[in-house]
Amino acid sequence: MAQDDDTPQERLARLVLLLRSQGVTEPAVLNAIESTPRDLFTPDLFRERSWEDSALPIACGQTISQPFIVGLMTQALNLKPRSRVLEIGTGSGYQTTILSKLARLVYTVERYRTLMSEAEARFRTLGLTNIITRFGDGGEGWREQAPFDRIMVTAAAPDEPTALLAQLKPSGILVAPVGRGPVQSLKRYTGDGAGGITVEELTEVRFVPLLDGVAKEL
Ligand code: SAH
Repeated sequence: MAQDDDTPQERLARLVLLLRSQGVTEPAVLNAIESTPRDLFTPDLFRERSWEDSALPIACGQTISQPFIVGLMTQALNLKPRSRVLEIGTGSGYQTTILSKLARLVYTVERYRTLMSEAEARFRTLGLTNIITRFGDGGEGWREQAPFDRIMVTAAAPDEPTALLAQLKPSGILVAPVGRGPVQSLKRYTGDGAGGITVEELTEVRFVPLLDGVAKEL
């Protein structure tokens, strides 16, 4: 059981054990999670719950993803040290940080200015220098930087993410929640290197929707 007087590092270590028991077994992914202080990414009101395996509210009505889902999606991406990754939906920047520890470069797009600048401040605090941010609508990807080795979408795409798949390298991997309802299907698209793509359904997930355009409010 979690003890209130445990240190953050002890609580994080226990979270990592839980994720491993649930199927996040890739050591590099677990190391990235264990070396990332999730409490830096959660609002004051929920800071005490930073080491629980649950999604939590952040500013702008969005959420920081559940650690198990972050682990599962990161593992599904099969990152290589040389990978250039596109992430859609920076949010708190937590998932971005995990990606940045496992890949060469991470390009991340967010449609709320407030979330983008708060995430940028966290990346500076953590000394992460391989993250390139952009305020904009990620639904169209990032044409100038395409193609990517890997793409991760952390908001639910209503339909198959065809515009993003077009920005994936022939042997690339894209992971995205797909669906219009409150529960979506987490899908992995793997290129065969010759123009073909296989699709797998990994599990059911609950993500906030991928919305069109940038947010007008801050
Ligand atoms: N990976 C994030 C989860 C953020 S929730 C984390 O670990 O904290 C999903 C994010 O996607 C939200 O911040 C939302 O504003 C953003 N989003 C939704 N539609 C988008 C779009 N079209 N372009 C860019 N970001 C988008």
